[in-house]
Amino acid sequence: MYSDKVMDHFANPRNVGIIPDADGVGQVGNPVCGDMMTFYIKVRDGRLADVKFQTFGCGAAIAVSSMVSEMAKGKTIDEALAITNELVAQELGGLPKNKMHCSNLGADALHEAIRNYRDRQAGLVPAGAAASDPHEHDEGMACPYCDTALDEKDKTFCRACRIEFEECPSCGGITKKGDSACIHCGRPLRGEA
Ligand SMILES: [Zn+2]
Ligand SMILES: [Zn+2]
Ligand SMILES: [Zn+2]
Repeated sequence: MYSDKVMDHFANPRNVGIIPDADGVGQVGNPVCGDMMTFYIKVRDGRLADVKFQTFGCGAAIAVSSMVSEMAKGKTIDEALAITNELVAQELGGLPKNKMHCSNLGADALHEAIRNYRDRQAGLVPAGAAASDPHEHDEGMACPYCDTALDEKDKTFCRACRIEFEECPSCGGITKKGDSACIHCGRPLRGEA
């Protein structure tokens, strides 16, 4: 299901941690599954001298963060901005389709950190303030498969995919009803059959 590269980055994530005196900090989150990524960058001579991250999320999210940090380290700002979520997935040897939503955050978080760095340089935000999370509008929950916003009244059904959801008792994420395992944490779901 996962490529060897994904498993490797998940089991041995690179560049995990915080840069206390970071030049830029970017945070993005996915309210559906609770995946949360924070990227810290240190810039020297226009290059990302150091890149670190903290990710709370499923295995794919962690593998993606790790890969993004490796791809970005040593790059110029422009090169780092050219890293896309598609490129990251490619480098990882592909990701399962139902995992793309968790993974799409990786490059976004990096770009947020760069935006934060540029805003600080321009004096728009005080040093130490993290870039705001562009994904966390009040749009409520979205389908983990197609990203369509779920109905306020009926959060357990995606009209686009025609999929019924249930909440994972382990991680609280929304996962397909009747599935044997949660798409986020991979723990088995106790079916009601
Ligand atoms: Zn997830
Ligand atoms: Zn859907
Ligand atoms: Zn779960």
